[in-house]
Amino acid sequence: MITLALSKGRIFDETLPLLARAGIEVAEDPNTSRKLILATNQPDVRVVLVRATDVPTYVEYGGADLGVAGLDTLIEHTAQWGQGLTGGGLYRPLDLGIARCRVSVAVPEGFDYRAAVRQGSRLRVATKYTAIARDFFAEKGVHVDLIKLYGSMELAPLTGLADAIVDLVSTGNTLKANHLVEVERIMDISSRLVVNPAALKLKRERIRSLIDAMAAAISERECQA
Ligand code: AMP
Repeated sequence: MITLALSKGRIFDETLPLLARAGIEVAEDPNTSRKLILATNQPDVRVVLVRATDVPTYVEYGGADLGVAGLDTLIEHTAQWGQGLTGGGLYRPLDLGIARCRVSVAVPEGFDYRAAVRQGSRLRVATKYTAIARDFFAEKGVHVDLIKLYGSMELAPLTGLADAIVDLVSTGNTLKANHLVEVERIMDISSRLVVNPAALKLKRERIRSLIDAMAAAISERECQA
């Protein structure tokens, strides 16, 4: 049995066409089913639905053989857990080029971020992405107090909790709706296929053919674009 860990939403929706190219069709719709384990048309392949931040953990410890996780999630996971208990870490054979967005710094309209940075002010920055934010500001030589949040970062500057946020931005509509402006683009994000190294050894042929089919689907998509 091959177990693939996915999170609901963009990652699930955008992984489906890549799986289809590998001949794998998920039998149930996660939006209408409450099941956490979804069968596929292939008797030896199943999908488990987990929180996005849990995907690397499932794959690393063998709860799933493979998974799809955003680069943001992978960076934060590695910063927190290193190579994990097993020491084997995660094999990352493919950038799937899906769920694309960026990690950016945003501040309230009217806040002069450039002047604050120039003057060496200490900034309070709210974020879920503390490792990415810490590295970015350290590299720039900006002093920051990081405030870890788990949701709705946009609210932090509006309530005086923070001067700035570091968050994922896709269309920019969420920032605009909350009167925030993007002032720095830290990195581009897309989702990656991650594989448990031990599973790759034990189930080499099946996993390898899945990786190859997904890679072929990505290059076909890029040729069409
Ligand atoms: P947008 O309004 O399109 O810029 O989207 C921003 C909101 O969607 C923020 O709350 C982000 O945390 C979230 N978001 C955007 N892209 C992604 C992604 N690829 N994965 C997870 N969350 C995302």
